[in-house]
Amino acid sequence: MSEKIGFIGLGIMGHGMVHNLLKAGFEVNVWNRTRGRMDPVVAAGACPCASPADLAAASQVIIICVSDTPDVEQVILREKGVIYGAEEGDLVIDMSTISPGRTRYIADVLANKGVHMLDAPVSGGSEGAAKGALSIMVGGPAEQFERALPILQAMGKTITHVGPHGAGQMVKLVNQILVVVNMLAVGEALLFAQAGGLDLHKTLEAVKGGAAGSWMLSNRGPKVMARDWRPGFTIDLQQKDLRLVLEAADELGVPLLGTGAVFQLYRTLQQQHLGGEGNHALVKALERLAGLEIGEAGR
Ligand code: NAP
Repeated sequence: MSEKIGFIGLGIMGHGMVHNLLKAGFEVNVWNRTRGRMDPVVAAGACPCASPADLAAASQVIIICVSDTPDVEQVILREKGVIYGAEEGDLVIDMSTISPGRTRYIADVLANKGVHMLDAPVSGGSEGAAKGALSIMVGGPAEQFERALPILQAMGKTITHVGPHGAGQMVKLVNQILVVVNMLAVGEALLFAQAGGLDLHKTLEAVKGGAAGSWMLSNRGPKVMARDWRPGFTIDLQQKDLRLVLEAADELGVPLLGTGAVFQLYRTLQQQHLGGEGNHALVKALERLAGLEIGEAGR
């Protein structure tokens, strides 16, 4: 019989991930801070719990997908946290994107109670979560990775064990450098095309299959062109990831020129109260610099 799963955090990502676990036949306990967000997954067969501790007591593998480092610490270590319900031998899998250093700290605290941990942040956006097609980068002991693999396979397609505790989070930060600098390139390219009077749809078709092609271009380029700023991933959470990248880079003494520039551009959008928009709205910061808008209205 497979292990009972507990899932904490039913946001944009967690919602799709739980649906895929249920579809794969796992028994899933759920907890979310805002209780109403549990309703759709409970209707699909998940079992609601009263607190993270209660959820942990009823589960052997506890998955977490919440916003930021303090939030993961809140649901694991603070009042009614996972640590107060988990038993020796249980496994905590943190799929949020958080600090690699604090990940190692949390893993140590859990290990003192005989509870295992993996950091397993994801990439692939809300679409990847809904389709069970996430890329998952996993840090922690190899035997716990083997234990978690069938569960992770229900949520992801590319699942890679990248090293010890914290290594999954480090690889995720690598991923975020690639994502945002790529989005900067997509924005600059579309702005340039707009200024040159090109048909943006034909331009995208012409370049997306060649060396310039990318996930951001194919999936977010059309949204930019349609001026659809609904979030798959919010600017506020993207900015949180860039803060983690720049903190780690500072510790390592690595200059990150492009990533630093994007961090500052997103900051201008946050100051304009656009932090709840999708990360592809980066282009709005470029538009303001250029005095030009992408999309039909600006042509
Ligand atoms: P989201 O839609 O904003 O959901 C955040 C979830 O975290 C909600 O369930 C929220 O509960 C919960 N939460 C936040 N702070 C909490 C706290 N202090 N205590 C308890 N619960 C708390 O975010 P998301 O897009 O699903 O992202 C979740 C994680 O996945 C983040 O670390 C993000 O960086 C990462 N991620 C996201 C994407 C993406 O494309 N969206 C892609 C890769 C990775 P409430 O419902 O009560 O607010």
